[in-house]
Amino acid sequence: MADYGHDLVFGTFLAPQNAKAEVPVALAQLSERAGLDLVTFQDHPYQPAFLDAWTLLSYVAASTERIKISGNVLNLPLRPPVLLARQAASLDLLSGGRFELGLGAGAFWDAIEAMGGPRRSPAGAVASLGEAIDIIRAIWDAGQRGGIFADGKQYRIRGAKRGPEPAHEVSIWLGVLGPRMLRLVGEKADGWLPSLPYLKPGDLERGNAIIDEAAAGAGRDPREIRRLLNIAPDKATVEDLLPFALRNGISAFILASDDPRAIQAWGEEVAPALREAVARERKAARLDFGGERAAGGERAAGEVVRSPKALALRRDGIAYDALPPRLKAAAVEPGDKAYPKVRSTYMRTGAPGLVLRPGTATEVAEALAFARQQRVPLAVRSGGHGISGRSTNDGGIVIDLGRLNSIEVTGTRVRVGPGTSWGHVAESLAPSGLAMSSGDYGDVGVGGLATAGGIGFLVRKFGLTIDHVTAAELALADGRIVRADAGQNPDLFWALRGAGGNFGIVTALELDAYQVSDVVFAQMLYDASDTVALLERWGKLVEAAPQELTSFLYLFAGRAGSPPLAQALTVWADADADAAVKALTPLLSVAPVLEQQARLLPYAAIVAPNDATHYGGQVDPLISNGFAMHLTPELNEGIAAGLRSAATPWIAIRAVGGAVNDVDPQDSAYAHRHQNFNVSSVGGDAARFRGHWDELRRYLDGLYLSFETDQRPQRLHDAFPGRTLTRLRELKAVYDPENVFDQNFPIT
Ligand SMILES: Cc1cc2nc3c(=O)[nH]c(=O)nc-3n(C[C@H](O)[C@H](O)[C@H](O)COP(=O)(O)OP(=O)(O)OC[C@H]3O[C@@H](n4cnc5c(N)ncnc54)[C@H](O)[C@@H]3O)c2cc1C
Repeated sequence: MADYGHDLVFGTFLAPQNAKAEVPVALAQLSERAGLDLVTFQDHPYQPAFLDAWTLLSYVAASTERIKISGNVLNLPLRPPVLLARQAASLDLLSGGRFELGLGAGAFWDAIEAMGGPRRSPAGAVASLGEAIDIIRAIWDAGQRGGIFADGKQYRIRGAKRGPEPAHEVSIWLGVLGPRMLRLVGEKADGWLPSLPYLKPGDLERGNAIIDEAAAGAGRDPREIRRLLNIAPDKATVEDLLPFALRNGISAFILASDDPRAIQAWGEEVAPALREAVARERKAARLDFGGERAAGGERAAGEVVRSPKALALRRDGIAYDALPPRLKAAAVEPGDKAYPKVRSTYMRTGAPGLVLRPGTATEVAEALAFARQQRVPLAVRSGGHGISGRSTNDGGIVIDLGRLNSIEVTGTRVRVGPGTSWGHVAESLAPSGLAMSSGDYGDVGVGGLATAGGIGFLVRKFGLTIDHVTAAELALADGRIVRADAGQNPDLFWALRGAGGNFGIVTALELDAYQVSDVVFAQMLYDASDTVALLERWGKLVEAAPQELTSFLYLFAGRAGSPPLAQALTVWADADADAAVKALTPLLSVAPVLEQQARLLPYAAIVAPNDATHYGGQVDPLISNGFAMHLTPELNEGIAAGLRSAATPWIAIRAVGGAVNDVDPQDSAYAHRHQNFNVSSVGGDAARFRGHWDELRRYLDGLYLSFETDQRPQRLHDAFPGRTLTRLRELKAVYDPENVFDQNFPIT
């Protein structure tokens, strides 16, 4: 018995004829309606009776909703690999991850040459396909740096740019037969796609054996490779096909027919019956083997096949095999294809040993229980924008909450998962005329920001994000899932709003949003040569401005003869353009203006999400901050000196005050309720930066944890002044006595 353990897939193989061009499209739609998983088309671009396969695939993708699409198989000689990779990725993106790449080495060479295509490759079909697969995968690997160079027998690529990355991991299935080709399947492909009518008895067994051996030789697990089969309608009954599934490990059957009734019966009768029969046999085989994996490789539900190469990258101290099955399916390890996308954060390149991606609050608690049993550090990640970079690690476990990303708006109440971003929250609130101030960047995650503060573009008018949190649900260190609000666990509710990362893993938050129509968003770029005067004028204007006005000022050190620059991003929190102009105009006089514009636009447009993946590659971050009542001459001199000294490339000054200071400092663990500005500075060289910041700190008071990388214990007294830290420590002893959450500014 050979069973590679894949879920069964049923598809159709339709003629792309153009005599009635609407027919193949209608048959593809019928395939979808009949419940089939896949629709495929042959690709013979030299054949005038056929529609062009790419055009047809794109059209079908747009005319269907669920079904996957593939060439069966695409003609490599006529489709240069860089272009093919971009087309495949584009169609995958446009179709919502529904494209798979069936690929062939080409046939009918006379016809290919007749249409001006290449001559039969002197390098040979195997080399061409092998090189093409490497190039295609490199193009899709958009997170890697640098262009692509290849000096193969067939393809010479000179610095092709990478990207786009497909929406999902597109499988490459090869429609090949010869032994060298089959070895290539084992070494590089995701699937083998032969056609039954062209096979001789024993070909499938022989083919599988070659593929399995080549896969093992390449450090792969043969179960990574799906075996597909094109079949004719006269061999499409359960009795015909069951042996192929059980003996030959075929897990995808693709029916070559353009008969609507045959397609309907295939989808509605044969496919479910065959699925059931295979499930029955697999179960029996499992029982025969006493619950152990069957010899042919029966795969347990949720089990991910990992190659020996990937297994060798596992880190010490993690009992990978003890992972509960529910978490296993979505977990990512070094060596997995998804690993580059989940290892790092916005600020920091990480190398965790395991990334768990729970999909429910219960799974979060399970992940936490598992992590607690391991001897490695634990990081908690929502959006991955933590400035301290502690939502990844080296060799530890990351609990990544990206799948908890729901947003539900009911009246003015919004319930959000920690894994979504504030840009998406703003988008969801906008249709109801609502908003929630978060920060200056839409990709920042909900979980990290809403447990720390939230100094955003509407902060002076509406206060911090945490000031609008009405409830949180979280998994505690001991595994309990609790709710914290003004009535239930009020002490925990107090602590979560400012020091949330210390007390548990937040799995949902409820916030009260507020009415905000369009806002006026002004951008002004100044020559900041006279930095001190600029700061004094800007600071005074901002302090005196109505609370509708919030301004963030970013100062950039001058470079190679050019003066320092300052950019003010200022939001007037309603659509009254006259009032906005009145309040904004004085800001044009704080320094020579190099560029300026102001626009009336929805708040959501200012923090639109980019959904960028964090591929890392950045150095360890160095950022410090503090608060100021006023921008005093001494502070301004210190800021100007920092920029001059090259200790820092930029300094940001964000207005706070306003509604932030209307809240009692005792109401939450965020106690900075009297200052008007937050000043943060980023560094390169550690020693030089420390000198600059130690000087500046003398004029500052307090600290916002979200803009800090200095993990020295004394910083906690700045972040949580006086009684706040004492109370937090008392609560930490109750809710996390063993200091499970010890990676990001532990308060113990
Ligand atoms: C480009 C950029 C711009 C920013 N602009 C602003 C701004 O204008 N205003 C502002 O206030 N902040 C701003 N920040 C800072 C931001 O608010 C914090 O870094 C915040 O922690 C990011 O949240 P996250 O979920 O993306 O972070 P993550 O990196 O996922 O998490 C950061 C930390 O928060 C804790 N945490 C995360 N999720 C949870 C959870 N579900 N339960 C409990 N603890 C959790 C963990 O300790 C984790 O290490 C900015 C950051 C960046 C990178």
